[in-house]
Amino acid sequence: MSDPKSDRPVVTRIAPSPTGFMHIGTARTALFNWLYARGRGGKFLLRIEDTDRARSTPEATEAILRGMTWLGLDWDGEAVSQSARADRHADVAHELLARGAAYKCFATQDEIEAFREAARAEGKSTLYRSPWRDADPATHPDAPFVIRIRAPLGGATIIADRVQGDVRWGNDQLDDMVLLRSDGTPTYMLAVVVDDHDMGITHVIRGDDHLANAARQMMIYDAMEWEVPVWAHIPLIHGPDGKKLSKRHGALGVEEYQRMGFTSAAMRNYLTRLGWSHGDDEFFTDAQALDWFDLGGIGKSPARLDLKKLENLSGQHIAATDDGTLIAEIAAFRAATQQDPLTDAQHSGLMRAMYCLKDRAKTIPELLEKAHFVLTERPIEPDEKSAAALDSVSRGILAELTPHLQNASWTREALEAAVAEVAEARGLKLGKLAQPLRAAIAGRSVSPSVFDMMLVLGRDETIARLSDAGGA
Ligand code: GLU
Repeated sequence: MSDPKSDRPVVTRIAPSPTGFMHIGTARTALFNWLYARGRGGKFLLRIEDTDRARSTPEATEAILRGMTWLGLDWDGEAVSQSARADRHADVAHELLARGAAYKCFATQDEIEAFREAARAEGKSTLYRSPWRDADPATHPDAPFVIRIRAPLGGATIIADRVQGDVRWGNDQLDDMVLLRSDGTPTYMLAVVVDDHDMGITHVIRGDDHLANAARQMMIYDAMEWEVPVWAHIPLIHGPDGKKLSKRHGALGVEEYQRMGFTSAAMRNYLTRLGWSHGDDEFFTDAQALDWFDLGGIGKSPARLDLKKLENLSGQHIAATDDGTLIAEIAAFRAATQQDPLTDAQHSGLMRAMYCLKDRAKTIPELLEKAHFVLTERPIEPDEKSAAALDSVSRGILAELTPHLQNASWTREALEAAVAEVAEARGLKLGKLAQPLRAAIAGRSVSPSVFDMMLVLGRDETIARLSDAGGA
C-alpha cells in the first residue's frame, strides 16, 4: 500500500515523556517518524511531554536528547516543551466550553468514587457520567471545577489507522474525560491534541498502546473542527520469547546499546527492520531506508528483538562504514563508556590499521580489542595467554627471525617469505611461529594477521617489540 498523495507537506513528531531513560521502543518510533518525514522532504519535530511535572526530570530529557543525537535523528527547530504551553492548552479548554463542547463539572472525588461503587454494585459501566453535563449554569456553585468534554452518547468513532485498518469504538466506551483540572492544569489528552494541531503534525506515528487514546483525542479534533492527522499505530516491540519487552529480556535503554558498542548506522538499520519490511532486505543504508520507508511496510504483529540479528547487521555496517566515520563512532563510544579519548597517535594508528580491523568485528569493543596492538605503547604487556606463548623456545625463534626482518623489504610478500623461511628452517608450521610473533607484537591472542600488524607498525617498531619480548 503506498501513501496517498496529500497536499499538506509531511510533518511528524516524536513526543517522549521524560520519565526515565530513552526506551528502545521510543527510539524506533522516533526513527519511523524521522524516516517518514525526511524521506518526503518533510519536517520532523521533537516535543518533550513533560506535563506530568512530578514524574518528569531534566536528566530524562537529557537522556532523550543524547539518544536522538547518537542515533542521528535530527529534528527541526527547537525541541518543544509541553509544559511551557499550558496556558494555550487551558485556552483551548475554555474555547471548548464556549462552543458548548465541554462543560464545568463540580463533582468531588468522593462523589465520583461513590458513583463508581454504585455502578460496580449494579454491574454497570464505571465510566463516570457527571450530573453537571446538562446542568443549568445558573445552578453552578462557586466551587472548584474541572472542564470535561461532552462525549457523544450514541454512535461510533472510527479511527482509520494506516497500520491497524479501521478501528471502531462504540461511543458508549468514551467518557466525558477531563480536559482541564481544577487547578487549571491541562490533562495529557488535551495537551497532545492541542500541540499536535499547533505544531501542524500531519502524521501521528506512535505505539499502539496509544490507539485507544486516538478515539478519545478525536473528540477534541471534532469539537475544535481541526483537521485530523493520519494515524499509524505501530505494534510494540516484543522480546525473543514473544512476550512484551521488559527488563528481563535485557537492554531496554538506547544508551545501553551504545555502550554495547553498536554503531548508530547499525542501530538505525536494525530498528528500521524491527516491525517494518521491504521485501527480503535486511542490510541497507540510510539512503535506501529513506527511499523505501512507507507506512504500508509496517507489520501488524509485534516484532521480536533479536540481538544476534543486530550483531550480524552491526558487523556488516562496521565493514561498510568509511574509516573517518567509524573513528568518530569509536570516539563517541569511548566517551559514552567513560574511556579516555583517543590520543593523536592512537587516532592515526587506527586510521592506518582500519583496513585490517573492520572485517569480522561485530561491535566497536570487538574492533578495539583487535586494535590493541596499535592503541598500546611499548613495552607491550602481554595478557596471560600471550605470555605463555613467549616461552624460551619461542623467544629463540623470534631471535632467529629478527635479522631476517631487519633485512627484508617491508612488503607483505617479503615478510611472508622471511617468516616462512625461518619456519621451514625450524621445521615448524607457520601457525606455530605466528603465535609468539603475535604475542610479542600485540600481547593479545585476538589481533589482525601478524603481517598486517607488521605492515601497520613498520620495521623499527616491530623489531623493537620483538626485542622487548626477549626475541633478540
Ligand atoms: N508521551 C507519550 C509517550 O511517551 C507519547 C504520546 C504520543 O505519541 O501521542 O508514550
